[in-house]
Amino acid sequence: MDCMIVDGHQDIAMAILEDASWDFAGPACERHALSLADAKRGGLGLILGTVFAPQGYWPEGTPYELAVRQIDLYDDLLKRHAADLFRVESKGDLGLCQSGGPIGIVHLMEGADPIRSTRDLARWVERGVRVVGPAWNTGNRYCGGWDDAKSLTADGRRLVEHMRTCRVIPDVSHLKPAAFDDVLSVDDGLVVASHSNAQALAPHRRNLSDNQIRAIAERDGLVGIVLYNEFLAGEASTIETVLDHIEHMLTLVGPEHVGLGSDLDGGFTPEKAPAGIDSVADLRRIGEGLSGRGLDDASVAKILGGNWVRVLQRTLPT
Ligand SMILES: [Zn+2]
Repeated sequence: MDCMIVDGHQDIAMAILEDASWDFAGPACERHALSLADAKRGGLGLILGTVFAPQGYWPEGTPYELAVRQIDLYDDLLKRHAADLFRVESKGDLGLCQSGGPIGIVHLMEGADPIRSTRDLARWVERGVRVVGPAWNTGNRYCGGWDDAKSLTADGRRLVEHMRTCRVIPDVSHLKPAAFDDVLSVDDGLVVASHSNAQALAPHRRNLSDNQIRAIAERDGLVGIVLYNEFLAGEASTIETVLDHIEHMLTLVGPEHVGLGSDLDGGFTPEKAPAGIDSVADLRRIGEGLSGRGLDDASVAKILGGNWVRVLQRTLPT
């Protein structure tokens, strides 16, 4: 079956910063699972391209400076490849995304460290940020990380409230359980986990408990399946492992609340992705696998892309 694939988590700007000799829009290359060529070949129509600048991660520059630099890199990429890539800013733009291109880009800020004050958020929205995770693994002024006692702070609570005003979706991937609960306690709005798997099958702290998966679904959100072996079955991970995680979530919450959030190139090389997935061009194989396990076409299409489109439809301006 042919449907538009949406990848809810690709660290494109991070990969460009880390490998200056690499061109995302150049020919597909072995050391990267990401490329425009593979995205087109794989039937992608929409990508959540991350802005990743937690305090202390990059040796030079503040989180704010690094985030500006990453959005500038995306701007440059979109300008140079305007026929293939464009920024999604409205519900109407979502309708322009096509399987294989043009590919829409929405930005996801992984860790709110670059947001210097809640008032700043509107400026990031103007630059295309529509999803924000309050913290990455390390804490910041909005939310504690895994190694400190605090979870969502008073500033973090204000940030989540302001995200609703600015129509920005909270991303709860990376949050420790207390922070997850705190974000959900702010209001009853939609949340996503852009790149997390099921703890029931892989007991890693980055994965979600069944109750967390249900809580996200109750708010009409989704969980993006992440293709990093450490969150699957280690070196033994294959596409079948990925399908197992998806099927587990389907039994919990049905086909409306599962999507893809590959995280490819996000600090790991393609060999750390499950066997059978060498690049984003292979995301469609997840759909083929689900069909092979007897899932109906409509559900497969939702998981491969339709659910992300629905979630963004609900929050983007007209
Ligand atoms: Zn991440």
